[in-house]
Order: sequence, then structure tokens, then C-alpha cells
Amino acid sequence: MFDELLKELKRLERATKVSVPIRSDEKGYMDRQCPAENCEFLFKVHEEDWTNIFKDEAVWCPFCRHEAPSDQWFTKAQIKHAEAEALAMIEGRISKAMLADTKKFNRQQPRNSFISMSMDVTGSTKRTHVIPARAAELMQLEIACEKCSSRFAVIGSAYFCPACGHNSVLQTFSDSLRKIKAKKDSIPIVRQAICEASGKDDAEITCRSMIESCLQDGVVGFQRYCEGMYEPFGNSSLNTFQRLDQGSEYWRNAVGSGYEDWLSIDEMSSLVILFQKRHLLSHSEGIVDARYIQKSKDRTYKEGQRIVVTGNDIDHLVSLVSKLSNNIRDACDKIYSV
Ligand SMILES: [Zn+2]
Ligand SMILES: [Zn+2]
Repeated sequence: MFDELLKELKRLERATKVSVPIRSDEKGYMDRQCPAENCEFLFKVHEEDWTNIFKDEAVWCPFCRHEAPSDQWFTKAQIKHAEAEALAMIEGRISKAMLADTKKFNRQQPRNSFISMSMDVTGSTKRTHVIPARAAELMQLEIACEKCSSRFAVIGSAYFCPACGHNSVLQTFSDSLRKIKAKKDSIPIVRQAICEASGKDDAEITCRSMIESCLQDGVVGFQRYCEGMYEPFGNSSLNTFQRLDQGSEYWRNAVGSGYEDWLSIDEMSSLVILFQKRHLLSHSEGIVDARYIQKSKDRTYKEGQRIVVTGNDIDHLVSLVSKLSNNIRDACDKIYSV
């Protein structure tokens, strides 16, 4: 009586693979997700590059650099969709087979029998094909790896190329500058939100700490950038690039120019003050000491005062370290191209 159903079950048993296609978005990117449990970073890779540049053995997470074979990067949404589709398709095929059995059974009933029996199959799933997984929304930040040229897209930040694992110093630095600007620009909104939720004191403390952390981020970001760019010239000793005079000396030896050649005298003195302010925040809670006054030549403070970091300071820092980093990149490029 259930011939068709049994046949279909046998067929399903043999064909255990249901393949559910994945659609790419309108720009040709498809969704991927880091399989590391503590990361699960969502990103996109260009479909063509996924086929042509990416390797089966290893794909890297752009955020945490977790490494795994290429078949482990489906997003949770894609897996959920595939499971649901596979189930729908199997249900559809079973129900189709049962319907065929039912029709056959009902047809085989004797016409003029006193008792008549008929079967009915309930359930509306008649689908025997799968629907491809839709692509998630476009991601704003599109990046092309400077080493292997594969294209990927992320929300927020990315530090590594998913196709070759390359850590782009330039990319990371431009990311940290964007992050600093975004953080600084969101301070008024944060202030208002905290003010409404828990009062002016909390809002003031949080916003001050946010703006001071921008100074820290800018100095550390620039330090990492210099360390990365300096790598081909040899090792730099620890925290060299946190100290402007030392860093400048290193570059002068490596590429023939230093910070004083790239910045005006005024710009250089502002940068020294900003770096020294950051040093105070890290080492003495921002309280001015004799060393600060001597090193920064900042006459606006007396010993024992606490420094103030303003939005303008942050803008200034970002523009000065950007200017330096552009000059460093140009100088390095010139040396590599010779
Ligand atoms: Zn990750
Ligand atoms: Zn790459």
C-alpha cells in the first residue's frame, strides 16, 4: 500500500546530500561567519574571489584571525536556512509519495462495495525543491587585500585578510583613526543618554573617560603603525614609537627623513604636548608633574594641576598622525621601489 513512500524513503536514504545554494548580494558579496565560538564575526567575501583566490585548506577571520578550512564559514543564518529547506524538501517528497500511494489506494477500492474506505493525506508541504539562502544587507566598508587583492566587506573593523591572513598595517591604522573619530563624534549622544538615565555626574565621568581614551587610541594606533611599517628595516625596541624623538630618529636612519621634516615647528610642538598628555593619563592619572612641563614645554599648566583633553585635541592628534603616517608610507614606498 505504501509502495511509493517506501521507494522515496530508499531514494532519500541514498541521496543524503541536499544542496542549498547561497545567493550573493547585489554587489556580488556573499555572507560568511567566523566559526570561533567567542568571535562569530560576520563578514562578506566577493563571490568571484571566493572561487578563484580563496583556498580550501584555510580561511582566516578578518577580526580575530581564527583559521579554519573553507567549508566551516557558513553563517548561522545560512545553516538554519539550509536545515529548514532540507526538511521542507524531504517533507515535500514524502508527502508527494504518500499522496501517490493514497491515490493508488483510493483507485483500487472496489466500486460497489458496501463499505468504502478512502485515505487522505494532510499537510500542505508539496515542495520538492529548495529555495536559495538570501544575502544579508550590504556592508559599508569594502576592502581589497593589498597582498592577494581579494575583496571582502565588513561592518566596523577588520584587521586580517580572510583569503591570506595578511595583517594590513595601513588598514588597521585607518580603522583606528575612523574608530577614534566615531567615538569622539558620539560623545554628545552618549552624554545625553546617560544624563537622562542616571544623571549629570555619570554622564560627565563617562564622556571624559571616552575622550581621554581617544588620545590613548591615537598614540597606540600610531605606535603600532610605525612598528608594522618599520618591520622591513629591522626590529625596533619596545615602545620606541611611543616616544616622538626616538621614533623620528629611527625613521631618519631608515628612510632619510624624520618627523621634523614632515611637520611644521608648531605642528611638532602640538604633537609633543598631545603625546605627553597621553603619557600623564597612563602614568599619573593626568596630574601634571615637573617632567611633563619640561618635556612638553606646555606653559598652560602648573605642577599638580590636572590636564584637560578636548575634542579639538583629538581632531588635532588625528590630523597630525595621519600626516606623519602618509609621509612614512610615501618614504617607504620610495625605498621599496628603488
Ligand atoms: Zn573570528
Ligand atoms: Zn589577502
